[in-house]
Amino acid sequence: MNSELLEKQQRYFHRGETKQVKFRLKQLEALKRAIQAHEQEIIATLHDELHKSPLESYSTEIGFVYKEISFIMKHLRNWTKPKRVKTPLTHFGSKSYLYPEPYGVSLIIAPWNYPFQLAMAPLVGAIAAGNCAVVKPSEYTPKMSSLLNKMISETFADEYVTVVEGGVDVSTALLKLRFDHIFFTGSVPVGKRVMEAASKHLIPVTLELGGKSPVIVDETAHLELAAKRIVWGKFSNAGQTCIAPDYLLVHETVKARLLEKMKHYINEFYNNGHYAKIVSERHAKRLVSFLEKGTIVYGGRYDIEKRHIEPTIIEDVALDAPVMQEEIFGPILPVFSFSSMDEAIGIIQQFEKPLALYLFSESREVQKTILEQIRFGGGCINDTLLHIATPYLPFGGVGESGFGAYHGKASFDAFSHYKSILKQTTRFDFPFRYPNYPYALKWMKRLLK
Ligand code: NAD
Repeated sequence: MNSELLEKQQRYFHRGETKQVKFRLKQLEALKRAIQAHEQEIIATLHDELHKSPLESYSTEIGFVYKEISFIMKHLRNWTKPKRVKTPLTHFGSKSYLYPEPYGVSLIIAPWNYPFQLAMAPLVGAIAAGNCAVVKPSEYTPKMSSLLNKMISETFADEYVTVVEGGVDVSTALLKLRFDHIFFTGSVPVGKRVMEAASKHLIPVTLELGGKSPVIVDETAHLELAAKRIVWGKFSNAGQTCIAPDYLLVHETVKARLLEKMKHYINEFYNNGHYAKIVSERHAKRLVSFLEKGTIVYGGRYDIEKRHIEPTIIEDVALDAPVMQEEIFGPILPVFSFSSMDEAIGIIQQFEKPLALYLFSESREVQKTILEQIRFGGGCINDTLLHIATPYLPFGGVGESGFGAYHGKASFDAFSHYKSILKQTTRFDFPFRYPNYPYALKWMKRLLK
């Protein structure tokens, strides 16, 4: 059935309609209108499944997608034009161009933590670049999956864009097919499976994965703002954010003060009911098991049935404790102190290259050292999360946190192939390259050095 769907989309793609810029702009506008029409349902579903507040739902899910659509619509005509690039003297007489072209039919696989945004933002890129798309949302947020299915099927013909609902079995079946591109957002282990499946047909992949993203606070940091911004970044969506600070490294001389301030902000932000739920009991149990090792500094209470875990800070955690062996992806923040920046860097380098890194420091030298010495996807100096929310910064990981990037122009690029074209003149023809030209080697040596 899925293979029929793919063939249908491939046939549609070959008709060429999606390649017209006017068509793409119309579809992006249609998507925006569809989201507007379903806005209240989206907010209600996010509240129902993840207990997200309307503010969180609008800023991190719906509003985020609107902004992507408007930014991309504004620039699309320009991006789709062939770009003239330089031509070296060796190719005198010719001109060089880059022609962006859509991959064809893209498969977009999304996770549950931002179940609307992480399915729709890649789709915006796919449409902008002129692709057809099959979107597979997460089975852990089934109400959002069916809402997306309804919204997309009301808006687009299934030969152009469609949603396929289901879990691992559905995803595995889709991955057996010969899509032209796969855009996957999810965990590292599943990312590896996706890449393995894609390798069978050499399908290009964009992998938006996760990892253990550190936050560092040194002795020069503005502690009040550090506390506020770390608490917000860590406990938004109850820590179920791919770029949430995973663990905190704080200079020993400011640790006590920072933790006091963080407790204050946890109280201020999350004691009013605006706090998300854990996605499932299974996920809640996994998180609660992390609390067995270490000393709870703050929080620590939970109700597995209600899928609630308090914002929690723990210390006295060994670096080889279970909580440090995988991405936490929940509202538990282990804290470690350090006495020198080298020690902090040493700890971070014991782990895979993270998706994000956050540094709170007023020292330019420390900022430079961290940026130069640690490899990570992206991040912020003196803030958390915000680098994801600008269309001017491509968002993606490196190494185990994934590869490829999107948002803004990078979304258009993620779903495009740039064809390199040389247009040669027929007005003359230099003889140097041809065999048996007497001075060929001499000329080549002069030109290619
Ligand atoms: P997941 O990898 O378990 O699932 C993601 C998607 O893959 C789902 O649609 C699921 O149905 C499918 N899937 C699951 N197992 C599969 C398998 N064996 N074969 C094929 N498909 C399979 O991830 P999740 O639990 O939904 O999301 C959490 C993870 O996603 C975290 O690691 C987080 O860091 C990461 N994440 C990354 C980003 C990013 O932008 N880089 C954003 C959000 C989440």
